[in-house]
Amino acid sequence: MDASLKIVIVDDSPLRTAILEDGLRESGYVNVVRIENTRDLLARIYSIDPDVILIALENPSRDVLEQMFQVSRAVKRPIAMFVDQTDAASIQASVDAGVSAYIVDGLKKERIKSILDLCISRFNAFSRLQTELEQTRSALAERKVIDRAKGILMTAKNLSEDAAYALCRPPGHHAYRDLAGGFCFLNNSAIAAAHLRLKHERVAVLDVDVHHGNGTQGIFYERGDVLTVSIHADPNSFYPFVWGYAHERGAGPGLGTNLNIPLPIGTGDDGYLQALWKAQAMIAAFAPAALVVALGLDASEHDPLAGLAVTTDGFRRIGHAIARLKLPTVFVQEGGYLSDSLGVNLTPVLAGLEAAR
Ligand SMILES: [Zn+2]
Repeated sequence: MDASLKIVIVDDSPLRTAILEDGLRESGYVNVVRIENTRDLLARIYSIDPDVILIALENPSRDVLEQMFQVSRAVKRPIAMFVDQTDAASIQASVDAGVSAYIVDGLKKERIKSILDLCISRFNAFSRLQTELEQTRSALAERKVIDRAKGILMTAKNLSEDAAYALCRPPGHHAYRDLAGGFCFLNNSAIAAAHLRLKHERVAVLDVDVHHGNGTQGIFYERGDVLTVSIHADPNSFYPFVWGYAHERGAGPGLGTNLNIPLPIGTGDDGYLQALWKAQAMIAAFAPAALVVALGLDASEHDPLAGLAVTTDGFRRIGHAIARLKLPTVFVQEGGYLSDSLGVNLTPVLAGLEAAR
């Protein structure tokens, strides 16, 4: 109990005030101010600035009640109201006005302490809820602004929710469940595919990085619900060397849902696009509900690794071809490192996709 609580009693009856004062004194509260006359009530309460307000009304008229409810709405303090009789509408109005305790025919001095405690704890609980509500409202409003900004941007760029690009670093497609490799620790494309799989029966991963997507292949090798397709430089003379051959077609329930298309070193746009058409046919036959594109840009003719020789226009054609699958698609950035042509080649892939949609 906090004996220093400043308590205001609003009451025009000496008898009722005496009961309240007795109850408070016996409970140890000494800092009590009484207001008899309700003229300028709000201003007087503000000038006292109490911690708690007790209002006792014998048989209040609607006008008096409304005046008290206005006080309650304005002062934002714990308020206990004692009335001798009431009706359902007044009880509802007291709740709406934030009165913490509305006591009907209960003015007894031995009850004052417990009513005061109840009033304060209810007020604090209500205040907490109100603060949380306001924080939630403002978070929601911020979210709406972000969504609106996103909407404007997407409309301006002619993008819809069914196409997204993820700039991931480090890349992921060489990482297995339990084996890191080729600068990859977490297989971002496989994680995206697994996540999409929660919502869709079948998902496909198309890997256009110059290197074979061995981690992705390994993760889904025995699964028939995720198709993995990789177009890459011939692993006989290119990383990852021991995987990426055409005979690796999956195993168990996954047999037939892994397609590797190794290309001779130095293959250019036309050879690459022919491979992509074959990949497209396989993906279309699998009929996935969503597509993950493991988008390496190291098949570029300017890439220092010099595995394949896709031009900037070739990348536009790749984007164009992927769009023709008409699938919700997420592009996950994979390889392509020490090369100035990365941005130069990313834009045409996405532009090619946009142009064809
Ligand atoms: Zn790569």
